[in-house]
Amino acid sequence: MNVVQPTPASLIAALAGVLPNGGLLTADADLARYSRDWSGDHFGRPLAVARPASVEEMSALMRRCHEERIPVVPQGGLTGLVGAAVAADSGEVVISLERLNTIRSVSPIDFAMVVEAGCILEDAKRAAEAHDCLLPITFGAQGSCRIGGNVATNAGGFNVLRYGMTRDLVLGLEVVLADGRIWNGLKVLRKDNRGYDLKQVIIGSEGTLGIVTAAALKLYPKPTQVETALVGLRSVEDAMALYARARRDCSDLLTAFELILRQGIEITMREAADFPEPLTRAYPAYVLIEVSSGGLIDLSAMLLGFLGGVSDIVEDGVVASTRAQGERLWRYREIMVERQGRGGRYLRTDVSVPISKLADFVTEALAALEQTRPDALAVTYGHVGDGNIHLNVVPPEGMASEAIEQLFEEAEEQIFAVVDRYGGSISAEHGIGRVKQKAFLERIDPVALDLAAGIKEAFDPRRILSNGRILASKSSLDYR
Ligand SMILES: Cc1cc2nc3c(=O)[nH]c(=O)nc-3n(C[C@H](O)[C@H](O)[C@H](O)COP(=O)(O)OP(=O)(O)OC[C@H]3O[C@@H](n4cnc5c(N)ncnc54)[C@H](O)[C@@H]3O)c2cc1C
Repeated sequence: MNVVQPTPASLIAALAGVLPNGGLLTADADLARYSRDWSGDHFGRPLAVARPASVEEMSALMRRCHEERIPVVPQGGLTGLVGAAVAADSGEVVISLERLNTIRSVSPIDFAMVVEAGCILEDAKRAAEAHDCLLPITFGAQGSCRIGGNVATNAGGFNVLRYGMTRDLVLGLEVVLADGRIWNGLKVLRKDNRGYDLKQVIIGSEGTLGIVTAAALKLYPKPTQVETALVGLRSVEDAMALYARARRDCSDLLTAFELILRQGIEITMREAADFPEPLTRAYPAYVLIEVSSGGLIDLSAMLLGFLGGVSDIVEDGVVASTRAQGERLWRYREIMVERQGRGGRYLRTDVSVPISKLADFVTEALAALEQTRPDALAVTYGHVGDGNIHLNVVPPEGMASEAIEQLFEEAEEQIFAVVDRYGGSISAEHGIGRVKQKAFLERIDPVALDLAAGIKEAFDPRRILSNGRILASKSSLDYR
C-alpha cells in the first residue's frame, strides 16, 4: 500500500525559484478559482498553483517536482466532467496552463495550426477562421476549455461524426514529462509511420502521463454554408432510422445529428421564457440536424430534398432560414444542458453503444429507471450519430443529500448494467478521472490493466502526475 506523505510547505515555497514573475500562487484568495470545476461538484484546495509561462519553465518546474516527489495535477479550463483537474485531498500542486496560450502558427497550405496548450478552444477556432480554415472541435464549453484539456480528455463534440474526435485531429504534440524532459513531437505531417505513435498514448491520458504544452492540429476548409433543421419524431427508433437515411443521403456533408428527448425541450421552455414550443406540438423525440459545405453545392436544396424524402419518419420540422435562426435552434439544446439540474447536483452519464443498438439501449435503460426510481427525472440527449448518449438523472426538488447519493449510485449501476449488456462504453467522451474509476476498474480486461500499469510506470515512475486518476493510487504494480 502506497502511503502519500504530506509535502512540506518549504518545498512548495521553493518552487517560486523556478517560476519568476508571480508564476507561483499560494495565497488563499488566489487559489480559489483553481479549486472548483465547472460542475461545482468537485472541490480541492491546491497546495499552490504553478503557472509556467514557457516550456522551459514547465520543464524546470517538473524537474524540481520530480526530484522532491511533489505531486502535481495539470489544469486547463476546469470544464472536465470527471473530477480530474482539481487537487486531491492528499495535497497536490495545480499546474495551470493559462499562461502558455500562444498560437504559434497557422498554415492554410498545410491545413494545420500549432497552438499552446493553455489557448482557449474558441480562440484557437477564431485564429483558424481568420485563415479561412476550420478547427472542427465544437461543444458547449468551447469558450472556457483549453487545447491541452481537449487533448488530455480526447474531447469529442457535435462534429465528431464528420471530423472525428480530438485524437483524429492531432498531428503532433509537445509534452513535458514527469521528470522534466521535453518531448518535442510537434510536426504537421499527414503521414508518418516511424515506430510507435506516442502522441496517441498521451491523448486521452487525463494528465497522468505528461503535461501537454503544445499541439499541432489538423484544420479543414471553413464551410461557407451551414444549414440547420429541428425535426420532431415519434420515437428514438425513428430518430435512428432517420440517422441511417441522413448518413447515406447527405453523406459527409452531415456535420451534426443531435437527439433530444421531450424532457430536454421542456427544460428549455421552463428555464427560458423566450423559448416556446419549437414545433407545432410536442413530440417524444427531437433531432437537430446540421449540414455544411463549401460554395459549389446547393446545400439548402439538398437539405430540403432530404427532408422531403423522409416524410414517412419525420412528423414535423423547421428549417432555419438564416444563421441566426440556426443558432437559436441550437440554443434549445444549450439551455437544456446548462440548466437541467436547476442549479443543483445531478447524475451525468456519458455512454456509448453500437449505433445499431442505441434505440433499444435507451428504451431499456429508461424503463429500468422508471421502474425503480420513478421519483427522478431522466434527461436524455446526445451525439447519437456516434452512438453516444447522455442519460442524466435529476433528483426531485428538496431531496436530502444522502438520498441523492443513493439515487445516483442506484441509477448509475442500472444504466451501466444495460451498457454492459449492449457491449457499450461507460465513458464515450468525458473520460474516467476519479468519478468513473471504480466502474472502469471493475470492467477492465486484466491484460489491458497490466499494459496500462506498465505505461504509467514508464512515463511516471514516481507517480507524481495526477495520481489516482484513471488508475487507482496504490502500489505501482497493483492499480486495482
Ligand atoms: C457544458 C459542457 C459541455 C461539454 N461537452 C462536451 C462534449 O460535447 N464532448 C466532450 O468530449 N466533452 C465535453 N465536455 C467535457 C470536456 O471534456 C471538457 O470540456 C474539455 O475537453 C476539458 O478541457 P479543460 O481545458 O476544461 O480541461 P480541465 O477540466 O481543466 O482538465 C481535464 C483533464 O485534462 C487534464 N489536463 C488539462 N490540461 C492538460 C495538459 N495541458 N496536459 C495534460 N493534462 C491536462 C486535467 O488534469 C484533467 O485530467 C463538456 C463540458 C461542459 C462543461
